[in-house]
Amino acid sequence: MDKTVLETFIGLEIHIQLITKTKLFCNCKNSFGDPPNTNICPCCMGYPGMLPALNKEAVKKACLLCLAMNCKLNEKTFFERKNYFYPDLPNNYQVTQFSYPFGISGYVDTALAGGSIKRIRIHEARLEEDAGKMVHDKNGSLCDFNRVGTPLLEVVTEPDFKTGEEVEAFLLNFRRIIRYLDVSDGNMEEGSMRCDANVSINYIGKGLGKRVEVKNLNSSRNVKLAIQYEEQRQAKLLKANETIVQETRLWDDDKKRTESMRSKENANDYRYIPDTDLPPFTITPEFVSELKSLLVELPL
Ligand code: ADP
Ligand code: MG
Ligand code: ZN
Repeated sequence: MDKTVLETFIGLEIHIQLITKTKLFCNCKNSFGDPPNTNICPCCMGYPGMLPALNKEAVKKACLLCLAMNCKLNEKTFFERKNYFYPDLPNNYQVTQFSYPFGISGYVDTALAGGSIKRIRIHEARLEEDAGKMVHDKNGSLCDFNRVGTPLLEVVTEPDFKTGEEVEAFLLNFRRIIRYLDVSDGNMEEGSMRCDANVSINYIGKGLGKRVEVKNLNSSRNVKLAIQYEEQRQAKLLKANETIVQETRLWDDDKKRTESMRSKENANDYRYIPDTDLPPFTITPEFVSELKSLLVELPL
């Protein structure tokens, strides 16, 4: 791709599994690698009549990371249901913060190889629950619900990255930050940190291009490779005057390329509604000062 004519825009959506003893809304153990369907209960399995109760430790760790990312904290917030059907989601909705994420308008600085500092703006960070896992083999597909209800912080950056190298450096720095804070182990191979990359290109000065979201990236190196592949693929289309489709693509690690998965959904397709089982709540100044005392010195 000719970087004197074209420029790249990259924004990340990162999901971080928070380290807590129990899940986000029930007392099931939050742990990785246990035998399938052993850490489940009527609450996380969506049985009728069960009520969720919010895990304070998860709120603490989510807000702590928001502060480390220099975010403003929304004082008043509530949870909402993102409705969709999938076999690994017993409730048929995911509980998340749609209208009022904990953290908004932050930034994270990263030292790049040449010594310069790259500032990436953080759009928002919301606390939500993870879904279960499907296991596929030649006899069919099986569900493991252990992961249902694991606390996740979804961090969305602005499209401030220009290259795959910048993204790789950012992810390594970011993992160090969350480990320092003991918020997550940030292991991309085991899925405790997952990253989707949104990539677009355009002629210099023309602003953002039409974005493609790439999923299934299980290492910071693969994130870089997928971005570089997308830059080439999209540049070829642009040059040939063909349309770049706004879609979700999957990284194929064997073939080292991205493949089309589905066209992109919009927020209104999910029919977000406030969760009537979980009352609105307030992040008090006392709670924020308590968190600030836990902020250790960060690597940079
Ligand atoms: P959605 O929730 O539908 O996925 P968002 O507006 O939350 O959409 O954006 C998701 C991510 O895509 C963000 O990280 C954002 O920075 C990035 N992004 C948005 N538009 C573009 C674009 N044109 N090119 C590259 N990245 C983009
Ligand atoms: Mg999103
Ligand atoms: Zn449970």
